[in-house]
Amino acid sequence: MAKLIVILADQLSPALPSLREAKGDDVILLAEVKQEASYVKHHKHKIILLFSAMRHFAEVLRQQDRNVIYLDYQQGFGSITSAVEHSLKKYPKLSGIMLTECGEYRLAQEIKAWQQAFDLPVNILEDDRFLCSASMFAKWADGRKQLRMEYFYREMRRYTGLLLDAKQQPVGGQWNFDKANRKSPPAELKAVAPLQFKPDEITTDVIKLVQQNFADNPGSADNFCYAVTGKQAREAFKHFVKEQLAKFGDYQDAMVLDEPFLFHSICSVYLNCGLLDVRWMCQKVEAAYQEDNVAINAAEGFIRQLIGWREYVRGLYWLLMPEYKERNFLKAKRPLPGFYWHGKTKMRCMQQAVSHTMTHAYSHHIQRLMITGNFALLSGLDVAEVTDWYLAVYADAYEWVELPNTLGMALFADEGVLASKPYAASGAYINRMSNYCQNCHYKVKESTGEGACPFNALYWDFLARNEDKLGGNARMQLAYKNWYNKTSEQQQALRDKADEYLINLEQL
Ligand code: SF4
Repeated sequence: MAKLIVILADQLSPALPSLREAKGDDVILLAEVKQEASYVKHHKHKIILLFSAMRHFAEVLRQQDRNVIYLDYQQGFGSITSAVEHSLKKYPKLSGIMLTECGEYRLAQEIKAWQQAFDLPVNILEDDRFLCSASMFAKWADGRKQLRMEYFYREMRRYTGLLLDAKQQPVGGQWNFDKANRKSPPAELKAVAPLQFKPDEITTDVIKLVQQNFADNPGSADNFCYAVTGKQAREAFKHFVKEQLAKFGDYQDAMVLDEPFLFHSICSVYLNCGLLDVRWMCQKVEAAYQEDNVAINAAEGFIRQLIGWREYVRGLYWLLMPEYKERNFLKAKRPLPGFYWHGKTKMRCMQQAVSHTMTHAYSHHIQRLMITGNFALLSGLDVAEVTDWYLAVYADAYEWVELPNTLGMALFADEGVLASKPYAASGAYINRMSNYCQNCHYKVKESTGEGACPFNALYWDFLARNEDKLGGNARMQLAYKNWYNKTSEQQQALRDKADEYLINLEQL
């Protein structure tokens, strides 16, 4: 008996388990629905990407003579559930529903109700596009005092065999070359742009739809140039491996004025919606190292992001939800300032990170962690508002990946489940890793007084404000020692300056 196969917007992979299982007479449903397009105010590029990629994916399925129902946004379906209900009415003889597990706790709860609501069996398949299942991660986590990414990553290297020698030891003699991924950008550094794609007819139609229906959402629909098919995404990734990967290794933490991408692949945008396959990407990168085209720090640094961080944060998400989302260890409650949305601030680093975000629905991981995330951490911005912002503005953001990275890593709101210490930094870090400070209204070398860099006073105030919670953290001892070494007058001046800035955040 034929079934209804439901494909979600981030499941656009030909090798999706539910598609592999599908029989010739099964009906495949893809739907552009209001709830998924608006549960946060998604950046226009994110909606264009997903709707266009879904439409292209449906075309491929039709070319394979699959029986596809495609419900577009104009048809007005409010939720995936209402789209399923419509499809079951249209094909009343369908004997069940099959889908691959979804990526968000919220939607998983909605799907759980289908069996009862439609009185049909619902078969949810494990998403083996990820290397580590939720149960495999739970087994790894069981009984551990600390869930550190580094140990998980080593397991994943052994599990996949990536970058291992004949004796199952890491090539290059060590597991992690992170220290060789943090070079400051020299003045003459020239970025290599990722591959861009001109919108075709399908994408142009979607752009018009988004302009009409999501006019108030962040970003502009005009400059959309992402890949929207698997073929294009693979082309973009091959370009990255050939042209960008070698430099990505050295400069993955660097930031350069008016260079939104530097040497970053932006392939998380494609990987997270299913247009790329993680195993294929890792094999390409490993091959580039084996063929002597890139150094070990480049290959290892990239593979670590994919089989380490990405799988690790997904494992944590499913292990700790829904309680994880409520965490706010540092009781951060300050409203998000307007410049997170419009980028109009005198702080050059924030202006760059936010304007890149608004233009491309993308900024790279250090801009996210050490500029916008760091500012939110130091200023005590409301955790829920900050996590919603990240979920809305980035084209690669889905809650399974966004929440642990923001709440845990950037905001330390999970009390150190993910990070062993807060990623708090003063202007000195930003000055070392970018050329922003030399182009800024504020003076990075000053902490108090007129025009002092806000990150400096806010950094010290953050330490002082949270001393009861962070003072005992072994990895914060040096920072606190430096704080205690200041005279009480110096401490007071720093805290007064921080107060002045915190009261006037919108004016910074
Ligand atoms: Fe950012 Fe301070 Fe540097 Fe300005 S001086 S770019 S505010 S770190």
